[in-house]
Amino acid sequence: MKVLKFGGTSLASPERIKLVAKTVQKHLKEDKTLVVFSAFGGVTNDLLEMADLASREDLAYKEILIKNEKRHLEAVRELIPVNAQSSILSKVKTELNRLETLYEGVYLLNELSNKTRHVVAGFGEVLSSLIIAEYFKNLGINSQYIDSRELIVCKNTNEKVQVNYAQTNANIEKYFEAKDASLYIAPGFVSRNEQGVPSTLGRGGSDFTAALYGAALDVKEVLIYTDVNGMYTANPQIVPHAYPLKDISYQEAMELSHFGAKVLYPPTLQPLLDKQINILIKNTFKPDETGTLISKSSEKNFRWVTGITHIDSIKLLNIEGSGMVGIPGFSKRFFEVLFQENINVVLITQASSEHSICIAVKDDEAELAKEALDEAFEVEIQYKKIKPVEIEDNVAIVALVGDRMKSHHGLSGKMFSALGNNNINIRAIAQGSSERNISAVISKKDVKKALNTLHEQFFEVPSKELNLFITGVGNVGSKLLNQLKKQEKFLLEKLRLKVRVHGLSNSRKMLFDENGIDLQNWEEVLEKGEKADKAEFFKKVDEFNLRNSIFVDNTASPEISAWYKEYLANSVSVVTCNKIACADSFENYQELQNLAREYGASFLYETNVGAGLPIIDTLKNLVASGDRVTKIQAVLSGSLNFVFNTYKAEDPFYKTVEMAMEEGYTEPDPKIDLSGVDVARKILILARESGYEMELEDIESEDFLSQESLATTNNEDFFELLKKDEPKFQEIYRSAAKKGEQLKYVAQLEDGKAVVGLQSVDSQHPFYNLSGSDNIVLFFTERYPEQPLIVKGAGAGAEVTASGIFADVIRIGKK
Ligand code: ADP
Ligand code: ASP
Ligand code: MG
Repeated sequence: MKVLKFGGTSLASPERIKLVAKTVQKHLKEDKTLVVFSAFGGVTNDLLEMADLASREDLAYKEILIKNEKRHLEAVRELIPVNAQSSILSKVKTELNRLETLYEGVYLLNELSNKTRHVVAGFGEVLSSLIIAEYFKNLGINSQYIDSRELIVCKNTNEKVQVNYAQTNANIEKYFEAKDASLYIAPGFVSRNEQGVPSTLGRGGSDFTAALYGAALDVKEVLIYTDVNGMYTANPQIVPHAYPLKDISYQEAMELSHFGAKVLYPPTLQPLLDKQINILIKNTFKPDETGTLISKSSEKNFRWVTGITHIDSIKLLNIEGSGMVGIPGFSKRFFEVLFQENINVVLITQASSEHSICIAVKDDEAELAKEALDEAFEVEIQYKKIKPVEIEDNVAIVALVGDRMKSHHGLSGKMFSALGNNNINIRAIAQGSSERNISAVISKKDVKKALNTLHEQFFEVPSKELNLFITGVGNVGSKLLNQLKKQEKFLLEKLRLKVRVHGLSNSRKMLFDENGIDLQNWEEVLEKGEKADKAEFFKKVDEFNLRNSIFVDNTASPEISAWYKEYLANSVSVVTCNKIACADSFENYQELQNLAREYGASFLYETNVGAGLPIIDTLKNLVASGDRVTKIQAVLSGSLNFVFNTYKAEDPFYKTVEMAMEEGYTEPDPKIDLSGVDVARKILILARESGYEMELEDIESEDFLSQESLATTNNEDFFELLKKDEPKFQEIYRSAAKKGEQLKYVAQLEDGKAVVGLQSVDSQHPFYNLSGSDNIVLFFTERYPEQPLIVKGAGAGAEVTASGIFADVIRIGKK
């Protein structure tokens, strides 16, 4: 005999039921078969909701009843030929009438007992199994319907389901003694109590029904058919990279299901484990997939960690106070109270100081537990020896499960640091004495992030996901997106980095996608996006709550850099080419560095100086390795270098500036470059990175522009004054040219003093041959006293700036 079970997800529509029939027929060719059916998908929820509505005198239950009536009658019409429908239609209607009467009773009495809940909850399985049995009969299969309520007996314990195995086994054995059908069809989930009143085996209980039949009949294997390819490393609906486990032990399956792997109802395992009967979990819709085999041992596939699960329907109870310290028997009393109230403790931790005990219980048992405990410890509370029990809401448990975890060091360390690095706060920790399970209590909102982080850490060797939120998609930003698209495959294959963009914004619009924005047509989609809003953008990043989140700022806007603190303080890294934050007050610069350190985020701004050139990174490495900077000499303005390389006094100076603007070598306001402010900001950043506490005002600037032109507030006025000052520019140019020298706008830092200004350099100077918009930096340090360490190359332009940002993103990936 074979025992199969099909879950509600496999029976959601008549089409699916037809598919189920095919699978059953295949099995029938091999052996006699008993098939357990759940209710059609969603029906049990409806049955219980109707009961709740009726008990609150809400007539809305009637609409749900009508919907369910229709659904079952339609299934009959779809599956069974018209001429054979009358008997099953009348059976279905009889059951539905009974159900209606029960709800009317609940409605009139305004009362819903636990007993009644059990009675109505079981109707879904009875209806589905009756209909399917009739369908099979009409397919010409010699089949027999079994009413599980007559065979499976539960003890009369208060609330909790406990099977009376002796009676159940005897009933099943007896029933099958005299039967010789090839196919048996039985409703799952339903049972009766010792008084003969219908009851159920608890939510998800059809799996258990199959196990009870399988164990009583001593079959070799029980097959559980569901909507996924077996038991996965994590819930596949939450963790997209989860994959099915080929084989696991009973104990591993037990831990996984107890800790939330809904695919198998936990009590299912016990009767099968006792008889060493294997369980195979298979996908109804993909019968060729291997599925998961649950058996005595899982020797074949070696692994330290088997799976990751979570339970989110819990609350934490905290009890603390000096009255607990060193008092023998306190814990005993504590747990006795819970035992008497029949409250299941999901997780326990006690601080070694014995000052507090923290337990997790099911959501709906928390209030009862608190009341019972507060009452039991009334005296201690009155004398302030302990505090009343505190309930903590909105928490969930995530657990790492595996048979071999006990023999491997450092797993919990790895688990907690992975969570910590992603800013997931751990409220309590427990490691079962079996060491098959390490659990952490975290905030409910972090569950998805935690599961994915842990999955990445323990199962996805060894790639890392980087989740980008990009603001500014103009010149630089669009180039960055192109580069990301182009390098996607390379990053994954060579660097094991999965880079996805989840948010995009320009000054008008913004766009989000939790699954990653398609970088092929982002422009079009962004145009249709919502109205841009910096606060909303941050809110979305926070809501998505993805691990390794990075905020990328490709703008020059102070309103955007003002948000860095928020991002960093939420463990979101910041990568920026916007200099404003780093060139702001030293206090602000320092605070950003501190926040990054404190919250495990990165704050990277390589492109603040020399676009894509590795200037800041080189300096950081020098400092980190113990070198000391004595002097920095640099040409840091691509724009000014372009202007003075191009200006030959044949065309007027303002024309050259206009050209630089058109080529994209200057800021939209060219005065920022020409005044030297931009260069001053850059040398300021280098000075700070070298270890100097410096402010922008400390930087001496030797202006070559008139004060009047510097005071203008728009480009038109500024260009007018440049025109007027042409003779002065001619003079500067000619005096350099006469000596055979070149004009360079130089920044210098020496002994903690920084100066920026125009210099004329002779042909021997390393700056002399600097062409186009190139930058150059000479680092004189204790290790490079005479011959400086030189970084030189294109220091402006959208493409190189984008590649510098790209490099910062990768730096975070490699961390
Ligand atoms: P059925 O109706 O077949 O009994 P369930 O809904 O009870 O199906 O169980 C299957 C569901 O369990 C899957 O669709 C999946 O969302 C969920 N699930 C949770 N954790 C896991 C896991 N570790 N492996 C597989 N499925 C899981
Ligand atoms: N139909 C029941 C439930 O939804 C039992 C089951 O599906 O296993 O809980
Ligand atoms: Mg189920």
